[in-house]
Amino acid sequence: MIDFSLNEEQKALQQMAHEFAEKEMRPRAAEYDKGEAHPDDVIKKAFEVGLISCDIPEEYGGGGLSHLDTVIISEELAWGCVGMYTSIMASSLAFTPIILFGTEEQKKKYLIPFTEKPGLSSFCLTEREAGSDAGAIKTKAEKKGSEYVINGSKCFITNGGVADLYIVFANTRQEKGIRGISAFIVPGGTPGLVIGKKEDKMGHRASNTAELFFEDMKVPAENLLGSEGMGFKIAMRTLDQTRAPVGAGGVGVARAALEHAIEFTKTRVQFGKPIALFQNTSFKLAQMAMEVNAARHLVWHAAWLMDRGEKCGKESAMAKCFGSDVAMRTTVEALQLLGGYGYMKDYPMEKLMRDAKLLQIYEGTNEIQRLVIAREVIGPIK
Ligand SMILES: Cc1cc2nc3c(=O)[nH]c(=O)nc-3n(C[C@H](O)[C@H](O)[C@H](O)COP(=O)(O)OP(=O)(O)OC[C@H]3O[C@@H](n4cnc5c(N)ncnc54)[C@H](O)[C@@H]3O)c2cc1C
Repeated sequence: MIDFSLNEEQKALQQMAHEFAEKEMRPRAAEYDKGEAHPDDVIKKAFEVGLISCDIPEEYGGGGLSHLDTVIISEELAWGCVGMYTSIMASSLAFTPIILFGTEEQKKKYLIPFTEKPGLSSFCLTEREAGSDAGAIKTKAEKKGSEYVINGSKCFITNGGVADLYIVFANTRQEKGIRGISAFIVPGGTPGLVIGKKEDKMGHRASNTAELFFEDMKVPAENLLGSEGMGFKIAMRTLDQTRAPVGAGGVGVARAALEHAIEFTKTRVQFGKPIALFQNTSFKLAQMAMEVNAARHLVWHAAWLMDRGEKCGKESAMAKCFGSDVAMRTTVEALQLLGGYGYMKDYPMEKLMRDAKLLQIYEGTNEIQRLVIAREVIGPIK
């Protein structure tokens, strides 16, 4: 049985997230895009309405929302400001390894605080020499007595420097390659955790991106997630779950661009009529609407599979890849429909276009998503 309708609870969540995006995010989006400040005030308000901890299970004080609920909310928040949404989403990305692989003690100790007061967390995998090839990380963790000593660095870390908790991937057995990678829970402020420079980015400027250095950073052995050598599996299982929300972010950005383009082309008059009446314009708007809808269906399908506990690596990759490609295509086309006005910072379109680009890069580039999809679609070749 296929059912595309949202239940009453989901409609209420969607409306709540939409109102939050409209009232709290959109009015501040341009300001945080220009400035250097982090949107702590918006994050605090997001916490107050339950948007930061919504995917933490109820038994640890969170909202316990399903994956489908989460992507519905994600689309609305990204529609409001995808830079702010990235801070919130990256925090969920770091909660996920604890939710999936944490012990009862780790879940209580490290998830509950995020349901009690505003805070963010970071997922720290990427290094200068290990981006798409995440298995090549060089950060090392050596066991010494009852603790691990971590040395190395990470780059491009969302919420780096503003997070209260970091999930750090490091090698406990370098010679074992990806089977030597382990994952650690590192509280913010741990001695030896050094925050490097904040990146000056093209888009998503409301979110903090920073380099991190680990200088003889000591982490208690009980902060190891799962067991030694499980880190790569933890990272991949996490990303399988969090790629659909990136796709949902793409749908939100694309929908915002489409809505602005419709509004503009209905009122902009050239050659004596609204430009929406030119067939070229209306066909472009129709194409964008089709793609936004198609992307949303891929995102919802991946989330639905996750909620059923079914295998969803390929579908999550499709949702992320298609959703972010649609965001990029739609923002480029929509900006063109605004002509010179689209290029000006007085209009929201150029920000949407700059923001769309990152969705094709982080949480695995779209080339890597295509590799994942192709591997499954083609299957073994004799
Ligand atoms: C703003 C921002 C925020 C980020 N946040 C985080 C974060 O919070 N945590 C974190 O761990 N990481 C984060 N990242 C890192 C992000 O996930 C990586 O940038 C991404 O995985 C790509 O790695 P790379 O930049 O090293 O590019 P590379 O891996 O060097 O790729 C360069 C190009 O080569 C292509 N390529 C590489 N390998 C292949 C292949 N096998 N086949 C075909 N093409 C290939 C890529 O698709 C890309 O086009 C963030 C990045 C940015 C820009």
